[in-house]
Amino acid sequence: MPDRRPEHPAMPELPEVETVRAGVEALLSGSAILHAEPHRSGLRQPFGDLSALSGPVRGVRRRAKYLLIETTKATLLSHLGMTGSWRVADSPRTHDHLTLHLADGRRLVFNDPRRFGLAALLDGNGDHPLLAELGPEPLDPAWNGAVLHRALRGRKAAIKALIMDQQVVVGVGNIYAQEALFRSAIRPQRPAGRLDRGTCDRLVDAIRNVLQEAIAAGGSTISDFVHAGGGTGLFQHRFRVYGRGGQPCAVCATAIRRTTIAGRTTCWCPRCQR
Ligand SMILES: [Zn+2]
Repeated sequence: MPDRRPEHPAMPELPEVETVRAGVEALLSGSAILHAEPHRSGLRQPFGDLSALSGPVRGVRRRAKYLLIETTKATLLSHLGMTGSWRVADSPRTHDHLTLHLADGRRLVFNDPRRFGLAALLDGNGDHPLLAELGPEPLDPAWNGAVLHRALRGRKAAIKALIMDQQVVVGVGNIYAQEALFRSAIRPQRPAGRLDRGTCDRLVDAIRNVLQEAIAAGGSTISDFVHAGGGTGLFQHRFRVYGRGGQPCAVCATAIRRTTIAGRTTCWCPRCQR
């Protein structure tokens, strides 16, 4: 049997969160929040006081895998955890934890069966401790091969572990790290500090391309129910190495190998990746 089982079936990565961001923004566009109604004290962390969240919605942004729902008065920081979703609710469901009452009468509800999600307001300066340590955004043009090369200098850990390090670059999880390393022909075990500048350029391009393709593939799923479950939308049909241990490489037909790096399953082609 080919190995198709994802390690964490519902753990959203950056493209899925970006798809959810676009979906939530479409649902909130032109609307205003009257008030937030929590149905429990919190999830992964306490919700804290959400009473300042009201007013016309300015937009919905993404930072790493966090959503930022911004009104004229406050910003709600939210994370989907493993099983979180936002929906326009007609009727309550089990695991509804937070309701945003909108001025047009709709209710936008955060539902999360496993409760690893998060919702909290940013402080008066627009900060939150969870945002403080985050590295650069992979899709920001300011992040490039030179920046990555500097960040990797002297680091002995495997390159795959470091591109999943949120202080090096945010939002690159286990799936897209493997795919980007395949596309840039880099063996995932290589000590990060030994990558030269040209290789870092290639890796940055590959990370950006794989994320953008996945966002484009997920962009057609926007509806009244926005979630990141099921992993990767249509993009999962394009995986070259992720979950393909033992299968032939799509480029050279060599059997894809599987190992564990920093505790995470990792697949790579021993011939294409050096
Ligand atoms: Zn190959």
